Amino acid sequence: MTDVSTMLQRIKDDKVKFIRLQFSDIQGQIKNVAIPEAQAEKAMTDGISFDGSSIEGFARIEESDMVLKPDLETYAVLPWRKDIVAARFICDVYMPDGTPFEGDPRYILKKVLKEAADMGYTFNTGPELEFFLFKMIDGKPSTEFKDQGGYFDLAPTDLAEDVRRDIVLALTDMGFDVEASHHEVAQSQHEIDFKYGDALKMADNVITFRFVAKTIALLNNLNATFMAKPVFGINGSGMHTNCSLSKNGENAFYDPDTPLQLSDVAMHFIAGVLSHSKSITRIANPTINSYKRLVPGYEAPVYISWSASNRTALIRVPAPRGKSTRVELRSPDPTCNPYLTFAAILAAGLEGMKKEMQPPAGAKQNIFALSEEERNLAHIDTLPGDLITANKYFMEDELLCNLFGKHVVSGIDDLARIEWDNFRTTVHPWEVEQYLSRY
Ligand code: ADP
Ligand code: MG
Ligand code: MG
Ligand code: MG
Ligand code: MG
Repeated sequence: MTDVSTMLQRIKDDKVKFIRLQFSDIQGQIKNVAIPEAQAEKAMTDGISFDGSSIEGFARIEESDMVLKPDLETYAVLPWRKDIVAARFICDVYMPDGTPFEGDPRYILKKVLKEAADMGYTFNTGPELEFFLFKMIDGKPSTEFKDQGGYFDLAPTDLAEDVRRDIVLALTDMGFDVEASHHEVAQSQHEIDFKYGDALKMADNVITFRFVAKTIALLNNLNATFMAKPVFGINGSGMHTNCSLSKNGENAFYDPDTPLQLSDVAMHFIAGVLSHSKSITRIANPTINSYKRLVPGYEAPVYISWSASNRTALIRVPAPRGKSTRVELRSPDPTCNPYLTFAAILAAGLEGMKKEMQPPAGAKQNIFALSEEERNLAHIDTLPGDLITANKYFMEDELLCNLFGKHVVSGIDDLARIEWDNFRTTVHPWEVEQYLSRY
C-alpha cells in the first residue's frame, strides 16, 4: 500500500505538472478532471468535488455534488506527454457524506470481489482485447483499412505494425505486463494481450488500454476502434475474458485428480456463468452493434455451451492446467464496461459455487455444424440476438439487479430503450437498398 507522502514524493520526482483524475460512467466511458500538481495532496486526503449530474448515468441534479478519491495504486505517468508531464489516477466516487456512490461501476465490482474474498477467493481475469486500426480521412474516423494483413501476419512495411508497437510501449511504460501482440484474422485488426491479475486491476487496465490505444493511434492519424462489428462480412472484435479463482495462492480451478483436471469449484463456476449467460450478455455486449458480432460464422459465440476441446462454445477451457487453469468466456466485446462485466461474471460464478450447480455435458464437436434439431436434442440454447432482448433478461435477473443496485439498473434499462428506439425508428441504408426500387 502506497501512502500519501510517498506518492507526493513520487509525483515530485517525476516532475508531474498536471494530474488527471479518472473514473468511468455506466457505459465504461472514461471521464476525467485535470488538477494542477499543487492540488495533489488535497485530492489524496479530502478528495476533489465535482458535479456528477452532468455525467451519463451518474447523479440526479439534487445529489450532484460528488467526491473523487484517487486509488494510489493506479498512479501512472502518461508517456506520450513529453513536454509537460501529466499523470493519472483512477478514482473511486463518493457521496458528500463519505459513503461510496452506489452508481460507481468500480464500487460494484469491489462489492462482489469482497464477497469472493470473504469466501477465501481472489478473482483473476485476463481480457484479450481486439480492435481495428482504421484510417482517418479529412480528420474524421473511417472504416478504411490501414493494412491488409491476416492472423499473425508480419507486415514490416506497414504503419499499423509500428502503431501497435507504440501502443505496446506506452502500455508497458504505464505498468502493463504485455504478454503478446499480434495481427488478428481480419484486415487491420489487432490484439494485444497482457498478463492476467486481480479483476479490479484488470478492469482498470481495460479502461486504460482503450484510452492509450485511441490516443497513440490518433497521434499517428489513425482511429483505434473497439466497436464490436465495424465491418460486415469479416470478424468483429471480442474481449474474451479468461477467468480463474485462487485460494491461498493456489489455482482453485485446478484438480489433477479429475478426468478434465478441473475442480468442483471450476465446474460450479462454469454452471453459474452459463445459467446467467443471457443476462450477462446485456452487460458484456452493451451496444446495438454488439449483436452483429454474435452471429454464426465469425468465431464469435452464439450457443450457450461450454467445451474443453473446441472454440465454438460460449465458455472454452483452454488446454493449460496447473497455475494457468482458467475458463474463457468468449462473448464479451471491448465496448463493455469491464467493471460491470467482471462483476456480473463473478457474481454468477459464485452463485454456481454456493448452489453447487453442475454444468450440462460439455460440447465435443463444432456446435455450429449441428442442425437446429440436434441442438434442441442436446438442449443447447442461444444467446439473446439483440440488445432489447438481452436487456429483458437482465432486468429479470435478480442476482445481477441486486448487485448493481437501483441506480445503475435503471440507467442500464434507460440506455437500452433509448438506443433501441433510435435504432428501430431509423431508416438504414440496407432498407433503402432493398426496397427503394423494388416497391
Ligand atoms: P487465446 O489462446 O484465447 O488467444 P491468449 O494467449 O491470447 O489466449 O490470452 C490468454 C489470456 O489468459 C492472457 O491474458 C493470460 O494472461 C490469461 N491467463 C493466463 N492464466 C490465467 C489464469 N490463471 N487466470 C486468468 N487468466 C489467465
Ligand atoms: Mg488471444
Ligand atoms: Mg494468444
Ligand atoms: Mg483474438
Ligand atoms: Mg481467446
